[in-house]
Amino acid sequence: MPEGRRHVVVVGAGVGGLVAAALLARRGLAVTVLESADAPGGKMRPLTVDGVAVDAGPTVLTMRWVFDELFDELGAAPGQRPALTPLDVLARHAWRGQPDTLDLFADRRRSAEAIARFSSPAEGRRFERFCDEAARVYAQLEGPYIRSSRPRFAQMVGDLGVRGLATLAALGPFSTLAQTLGRRFTDPRLQQLFGRYATYCGASPWAAPATLMLVSHVEQTGVWSVAGGMAALARCLAGLAAGAGATLRYGATLEQVVIERGRACGVVLTGGERIAADAVVFNGDASRLGHHLPPELTGAAPVPVAPAARSLSAVTWALHVRTRGFALERHNVFFDADYASEFDDIFRRRRLPERGTVYVCAQDRGAGTLGLPGGTGETGETGHDGRGGHNGRERLLALINAPADGDRRSFDASEIEPCQTRCLGLLSDCGLTLELDSPAQVVSRTPADFQRLFPGSGGALYGAATHGWMSLFRRSGAATRLPGLYLAGGSVHPGPGVPMAAMSGRLAAATLLAHLDSTRRSSRVRISGGMSMPSATTAATP
Ligand SMILES: Cc1cc2nc3c(=O)[nH]c(=O)nc-3n(C[C@H](O)[C@H](O)[C@H](O)COP(=O)(O)OP(=O)(O)OC[C@H]3O[C@@H](n4cnc5c(N)ncnc54)[C@H](O)[C@@H]3O)c2cc1C
Repeated sequence: MPEGRRHVVVVGAGVGGLVAAALLARRGLAVTVLESADAPGGKMRPLTVDGVAVDAGPTVLTMRWVFDELFDELGAAPGQRPALTPLDVLARHAWRGQPDTLDLFADRRRSAEAIARFSSPAEGRRFERFCDEAARVYAQLEGPYIRSSRPRFAQMVGDLGVRGLATLAALGPFSTLAQTLGRRFTDPRLQQLFGRYATYCGASPWAAPATLMLVSHVEQTGVWSVAGGMAALARCLAGLAAGAGATLRYGATLEQVVIERGRACGVVLTGGERIAADAVVFNGDASRLGHHLPPELTGAAPVPVAPAARSLSAVTWALHVRTRGFALERHNVFFDADYASEFDDIFRRRRLPERGTVYVCAQDRGAGTLGLPGGTGETGETGHDGRGGHNGRERLLALINAPADGDRRSFDASEIEPCQTRCLGLLSDCGLTLELDSPAQVVSRTPADFQRLFPGSGGALYGAATHGWMSLFRRSGAATRLPGLYLAGGSVHPGPGVPMAAMSGRLAAATLLAHLDSTRRSSRVRISGGMSMPSATTAATP
């Protein structure tokens, strides 16, 4: 352990862990990041397919302000920040067997006009009202929920005030997103399109609270492409952490958190190496933390999410193929009929959906191509054709939702191949043909792969499903019941997605710093960007 300075071990170099590490190092703490993979990013890592690097995790980057605030706080020079380009078309939507597609734009007025043409002028006007409502919901929840350390229901009611409560009451306090959308739009295709935003939190629109309409607002306020791919964002964060003095160790896996006299004081790695620390931040799935504690203390970790309560997993195909017949945008959504059956299949029948929505990210399209020239994930121009691929091929990530049962069954070829055939059939019925000439042009991942990569998750990509109003308050906060042990990542508050996981890293760093600073005695601590959190005296277990 470095002498004279407090030492923090951060386990996991996902976005939450990297943000916590960079902020803590910037504040002068000695920080060691332990990551079992060979590169930073966690879910935000590319796969090499047919000799090129394809983003195989998150592809939709929203809430740019989270990163702007963060890079400002870290004192990042322009060259140390990822180059972000706003997308003009947020996403192109197609429905099986229907010739018309619907684009949503960064410009809300253009979206309303497109909806009026696609559906009806009345639906265009309803969309405008829906945007206003979603913006109000977002505005009410950003401070008391997204920026706040794990809010309690009663505390949030107080923070919301009369106006905020009135906004949420207008949604119908216990309505699901699907119910509310049923009252906001008459065209079932629009209900389907806006209901899909529940899946950004790994939820079913038929079980997610109506408040998740705020995801629609988040997307309306901008989607960005990252030069060099999403991995470039991870590399920037890792670089800033290292620049601030953090040590990043790859191929280093946590075996156990060492607890002495009731507090975390180090870690033991697989292989037996022991590292002493004043505090530990765990960025793996919160459901896994108990596994890393001494048996008598597993109860101090968050209760693992039961399989039935897990969020969505996915089957993904990272592809390098020629495409024809459909004008792909960067983000494309292909819908089937009977949307409810997709979630019934996944959450109730626990099987791959018969009529699953297919999302396709065409990574060489839209503003600012990713520029991932090879398996290295390095930033730079591709030297490829106009679409960035070799020989007219382009990089795609295709994804369908799946049950998070990766720890309970294998998802072998007998399940995956029919699913792939169904997906290709849907794409074909929407006019899109993928020319898959060789098996080397595709790398697939299943819930079992995601479970292997992210232990404890069962393959769930977003922690617990955001089902029911109270689910917003069930996620663990940054502080655990063991002093010196903290959580960061998409499975804890404020929730999943790259910006929210980044936010959790900020909250973990700030909570840890507040606890270390035993002199603080005020009832609330504020950190830059307006976040607030309980002080050492009021947090769960200082
Ligand atoms: C296919 C897919 C599509 C997605 N699409 C989007 C999207 O479009 N937009 C969006 O915002 N979000 C999306 N997400 C979600 C987003 O990627 C995650 O919410 C976010 O990246 C999670 O970050 P995290 O901080 O929780 O860390 P994670 O990414 O979960 O990383 C955790 C890290 O901890 C490491 N680790 C775990 N246990 C140990 C251990 N014992 N020892 C050492 N290291 C360990 C793991 O190797 C991993 O690197 C998607 C995710 C996936 C998989």
